[in-house]
Amino acid sequence: MPAPNPKKNNPERRIVFHVDMDSFFASVEVREKPELKGQPVIVGSDPREGSGRGVVSTCSYEARKYGIHSAMPISQAYRLCPHAVFLPVNMNLYAEVSAAVMELLRGFSEKFQQVSIDEAYLIPGPEVRNFEEAALYALRIKDEVQRQQRITCSVGVGSNKLVSKIASGFQKPDGLTVVRPEDVREFLFPLPVSKVPGVGERTAETLKEMGINRIEELANCNIQLLSERFGKIGLRLKQLANGLDFEEVIEKESIKSISRHGTFAEDTNDPVKISGSLDLLIESVHSSLLKHSFLFKTITLTVRFEDFSTYTRSKTLPIWTSDIFVIKRTAIQLLAEFIGRRKFRLVGVGVTKLRIRDEKQTLITDF
Ligand SMILES: [Mg+2]
Repeated sequence: MPAPNPKKNNPERRIVFHVDMDSFFASVEVREKPELKGQPVIVGSDPREGSGRGVVSTCSYEARKYGIHSAMPISQAYRLCPHAVFLPVNMNLYAEVSAAVMELLRGFSEKFQQVSIDEAYLIPGPEVRNFEEAALYALRIKDEVQRQQRITCSVGVGSNKLVSKIASGFQKPDGLTVVRPEDVREFLFPLPVSKVPGVGERTAETLKEMGINRIEELANCNIQLLSERFGKIGLRLKQLANGLDFEEVIEKESIKSISRHGTFAEDTNDPVKISGSLDLLIESVHSSLLKHSFLFKTITLTVRFEDFSTYTRSKTLPIWTSDIFVIKRTAIQLLAEFIGRRKFRLVGVGVTKLRIRDEKQTLITDF
């Protein structure tokens, strides 16, 4: 009998880490101003010492004890804890710390994927052969982040992205949770369905109406029922609830732009046809943006006429966004100068200057 290949078909071999910085913005502020240590710290837009009209971006764990959480209006946070320290968002500083943390994490990775300003998945090199070694490796990562950046993170280790992501949130702050493949169901089943990434308030509400509150109930739910309610997503939900996730850890830094082009079946100068095609291309660009959690700053329009002469026009916005209406409006503006007698052969639209979205600054998207 041939010797078993330890790498092939070995479920232990797939080890995914999810690293999530603890109350990132607040932790960076406390690091910069040590006198804030141990105090309820609230970082938000337009805080004005609690009288502003903004929302909470992040708050320290001391503030969470008062029931304060991300996306809560500053005014409400103030009512819950008037003596908290209210600070404005200093994104340049957080981006700098984030870049340093991500660079450090990359050094621990064979494959690396940043998913937001303070979160990343990584797959360690072959020196991590099993889950015992993974636990030690995770401790090394945590120590190194603490030593170099003086902030804490929580790490989840699992056999896929889903499990590691839920595990990193399991014992925050400064947590480490390792879920072995044989323990996945035991780990997931008691948790509320809202712990499944992508299940936002709306989906959780619908599931509740169906009598599904815990992951176990979702895992055992009839696929027919789920498909009727959620379409194609139904199967995905059931798979996730059973701990199944086949998504790869992918380095997104390599994606520099997202663009779509379409050639007309027949050359045309009909503005309705041209803008109609452009709309479809924009929708495709936009869904790809959302899928990758990107924001963009620059929109590019490409036009090719019947004689193959090709023109591009770009516009860079003052802000990062993922708003489809901004793409549409800008593309139409850029298109205006080309609409006329000459016939189009092709039209294209793209976005560049991409950045990974910070989840705390945007609304949660439901399935
Ligand atoms: Mg975090």
